[in-house]
Amino acid sequence: MPEETPAFSQFASPSGEEAVRQVREIMSLRARTGTPMALVRTYGCQQNVSDSEKIKGFLAQMGFSFTENEEEADFILFNTCAVREHAENRVFGNVGALKTVKRRHPSTLIAVCGCMMEEDKAAERIRSVFPFVGLVFGTHVIHKFPQLLLRALTENRRVFERGDDSEDHQIAEGLPVRRDGTVKAWLTVMYGCNNFCSYCIVPYVRGRERSREPDAILKEFRGLVRDGYKDITLLGQNVNSYGKTLQNPVSFASLLRMLDEVEGDYRIRFMTSHPKDLTKELIDTIASGKHISHHLHLPFQSGNDRILKAMNRSYTRERYLELISYAKEKIPDVSLTSDIIVGFPGETYEEFRDTVDLIRRVEFTSLFTFIYSPRTGTKAAKLPDPVPAAEKGRWLQELCAEQEKIAARRCAASVGTVQRVLIEQQKPKTGLLTGRTDGNIIVDFAGDPALIGQFANVRITSARNWILGGELI
Ligand code: SF4
Repeated sequence: MPEETPAFSQFASPSGEEAVRQVREIMSLRARTGTPMALVRTYGCQQNVSDSEKIKGFLAQMGFSFTENEEEADFILFNTCAVREHAENRVFGNVGALKTVKRRHPSTLIAVCGCMMEEDKAAERIRSVFPFVGLVFGTHVIHKFPQLLLRALTENRRVFERGDDSEDHQIAEGLPVRRDGTVKAWLTVMYGCNNFCSYCIVPYVRGRERSREPDAILKEFRGLVRDGYKDITLLGQNVNSYGKTLQNPVSFASLLRMLDEVEGDYRIRFMTSHPKDLTKELIDTIASGKHISHHLHLPFQSGNDRILKAMNRSYTRERYLELISYAKEKIPDVSLTSDIIVGFPGETYEEFRDTVDLIRRVEFTSLFTFIYSPRTGTKAAKLPDPVPAAEKGRWLQELCAEQEKIAARRCAASVGTVQRVLIEQQKPKTGLLTGRTDGNIIVDFAGDPALIGQFANVRITSARNWILGGELI
């Protein structure tokens, strides 16, 4: 297939609606089984999951049904994540494996999108190493997906498209969404990040912070509650700085209060919070909210001030502990979780021990722990990194062993309490129902599957590491 230079220019294109109509027509003739089938595979964080739900919304409008089977798909899309090198390599491996699928089914269109495609190096690798990929687009042009797909289907060349600077500051409202679940929903309140933590690629691939207007969020939120969603997570790379760039600035706490007023039986969560922007007003809002979960995911990354500075995190260990102690005072049953990076370039064992000390003081419910992974293009990737990977692996094990003890202690302490659990599914092996507490802890218990999708009060009777057992009241 001939190539097109990565385009940042607008092309003469039909409207989104017209493109949807034309793709539907083309695919009804081109589909191998009569019904066009799409496979959308999502890598990475909830923001990507949310983006994929929008792309699936467009695909559904175009008449596609969905499959997990590569062999029956007429359209295969990988929505990629750039946060870790390991994840990127997995994507390249999985894209490479599609070569044989394309050979068996030449009419299948293969596409790659997401954060990786906003990185020059990764996009270039797709271009040069995987010529069977016919469509590549970045995170800023998802709203143009119908036009891009139409071009890939009708032009005799590969299509590459990413956002330009002007588009970086726009938010496209009103895109169709096909949600993966019926109980839990993601709702993006802002895009991008301004923080430039020295290890992170996100500000380079997702652009600067842009917040959605509160009215647009409220409208979508009301629709979700009306449709019966019970667990709604507000998404943003740094939700605590929500609203700062709006023409009429609004704080994240005000947004939460506004949503919390909506009548209904539901729970609001949010992620991710940056300690630098977390206010006492927000903690007070969680404490006094009617529907706001008492779960706070507040990544601290390192418990050592020198490392925090090198990470450009803009807060100190003391400030973080102050916020935690305020949260515990105002919300006595608060469930705290965090992300941690072990083995940041130049970190010593003593500095790492400050992180272990911090997790002991805070007593997190659970942690997402990662060994530092360099990302080309970030400041940290240029720093000397003398500690061998095996040594960092030992540090990580030490940290996880400590956290396991803390989690087991916390779970054991909840035996005898009554928790409000949102029932999500029935476990195929045991037949038990399973759901999550307000603090986001998994609880298994016996009950009628007709209860799936509803809240129930469950008495906790046993604790096994981070999973609780209980009985329905
Ligand atoms: S706050 Fe830091 S770690 Fe989080 S997305 Fe922004 S730059 Fe990355």
